Amino acid sequence: MPIKVAKFGGTSLASAPQIRKMQDIVRADPDRRFVVPSAPGKRSGQDTKVTDLLYLCHDLASKGLSFDDAWDPVCERYRTIVAELGVSLGLDALLDEAEAVIADHGNRGLPADYAASRGEAINGRIIAALLGFDYVDPTEMIFFNERGRLDEDRTYRAVADRLGVGDAGGAVVPGFFGLGADGNVKTFGRGGSDVTGAIVARGVGAGVYENWTDVHGLLITDPRIVPDAFTIEAVTYRELRELSYSGARVLHEEAVFPVRAAGIPVNIRNTNDPDHPGTLIVAGDHPRAKLSYQITGIAGRKDFTIIQVEKAMMNSEIGFGKRVLEVLANQNISFEHMPSGIDTLSVVIEDTAIEESLDEVVEAIRSAVKPDRIDIDNNLALIATVGRGMAKLPGTSAKLFAALGEAGVNIRMIDQGSSEMNIIVGTDVQDFEKAVQAIYRAFVSEDSQPRELG
Ligand code: ASP
Repeated sequence: MPIKVAKFGGTSLASAPQIRKMQDIVRADPDRRFVVPSAPGKRSGQDTKVTDLLYLCHDLASKGLSFDDAWDPVCERYRTIVAELGVSLGLDALLDEAEAVIADHGNRGLPADYAASRGEAINGRIIAALLGFDYVDPTEMIFFNERGRLDEDRTYRAVADRLGVGDAGGAVVPGFFGLGADGNVKTFGRGGSDVTGAIVARGVGAGVYENWTDVHGLLITDPRIVPDAFTIEAVTYRELRELSYSGARVLHEEAVFPVRAAGIPVNIRNTNDPDHPGTLIVAGDHPRAKLSYQITGIAGRKDFTIIQVEKAMMNSEIGFGKRVLEVLANQNISFEHMPSGIDTLSVVIEDTAIEESLDEVVEAIRSAVKPDRIDIDNNLALIATVGRGMAKLPGTSAKLFAALGEAGVNIRMIDQGSSEMNIIVGTDVQDFEKAVQAIYRAFVSEDSQPRELG
């Protein structure tokens, strides 16, 4: 049977009862041979993540201050977990060692990576003891290069060697860190245990990378806008990229690359409801991708500025577009879309990318192309409706625009990629929520049925 790598997030491991759920999940399937834990997360809204406390410890230590106030709750957290689980391991020795090294790194002005990594490292020890699995230290097999990037080839080779894929035993590999080029512990960015899970899955050639969390999977749209939004059953990597680019909060971006490149499906699952199938993320040629609803998801963001450049007979002026884009390139500004009309060319830019240099950019465009006028509007929201199921299916845009029209939403901009997988509309910021709700209602209902794609 194909190997499964199961990564568990912080809320899935926040307390002994949560860790028991993880244990049941791992026990229920002998293919779950590799477990990648996060550090204990929040037990409730008011709680503090162990990782946040550890960053605080480092911060205080590096200022030469006592870090007891941050360290004591970390110790307390692990002691309670170990006592409630009844596992035997030398926790005090692990905590003492971590405390000493955190103090030393702080004194020596080293970065916070070691401190931050202890959340996963100690949790990993506890979980390995509970499951009876080996504990494998990621500094033995996850390597960063001089530029601080993952040294991919070396890492995948080492993971395959170290985890001895032939042998049937299980292993726990704590998430979030590996070995830096300087020989010290180095972490990925926040939320980086997802990346470790993906690397392990790729290294051992897993059949699936399970990402266990506290939600059922990816939702079709933001539940703050559509509270009863359904869970997406299956999404392709490409759709996922479009949805996350457009604002959906999904897996850590870097976590997608290792598994995507190897065609390994990711299954997002809920630790608190293990019978729910969750969301499956697959390559476009996976059998599951052949079955699709008309749309897969709706995502959007609010903060865009549109610069509209108008000039009569623009079409006959060779190099007009190039000169406008050159202005942006010279200012190191990237643009998101470039809708054009007869005698108008617009560029859509994220507010944060242009805010400070807007006046300069406008001046530079004026002198580069001598336009008749330039209009600026920083009240634009973009909404992407994404779905592999909409390609070659007439009527999708009609349905979308009709829904927006009926909801009284004025469409300011339209952009459809030629892959026919994405229709992006620009609306006024104040229409954003209404627009998302209208699109959702038009395409998603209890009795929507998926169809076979040709
Ligand atoms: N514990 C780390 C963080 O809080 C990494 C993770 O949970 O994925 O960012």
